[in-house]
Amino acid sequence: MAAVPKPKKSPRRRIKVAPSIMQDRKECYLTGATHNLHRHEVFFGRGQRQKALEWGCWVYLRGDWHNQSNKGVHFNKELDDRMKQEIQKRFMELYGFEKFVEVFGKNYV
Ligand SMILES: [Zn+2]
Repeated sequence: MAAVPKPKKSPRRRIKVAPSIMQDRKECYLTGATHNLHRHEVFFGRGQRQKALEWGCWVYLRGDWHNQSNKGVHFNKELDDRMKQEIQKRFMELYGFEKFVEVFGKNYV
C-alpha cells in the first residue's frame, strides 16, 4: 500500500484534551464540590496551557478556588505551587521525571 502523505497540520488545530491525570470524577479538586466548576490547567502561560491539556495536567476547581476570589489558585502562589508539585508527582509516577522536564521544561518539586 502506498504511503499517503499526512495533511499539514494547521497551526490553529484544535487542542486535544486528555482526561485529567488527577481526577476520575467531575468535582472540585480541593473541596469535592460539584457546582460552579472551572477547568484549571495547572501549568499555564507561555505555551504551557496547551501542553497541560494534552497531558491531562488539569483539574476541576470550584470558581472561588479558581479565579473568583483572592484565595483562588490564580491569585494564591502557595496554592499554585502546591498544585504544581502534586500534579508533577503524579505525572512522574505515570511517565517519569525526564518526560516531565521534556514536556514542561521545568521542575517544580
Ligand atoms: Zn485556571
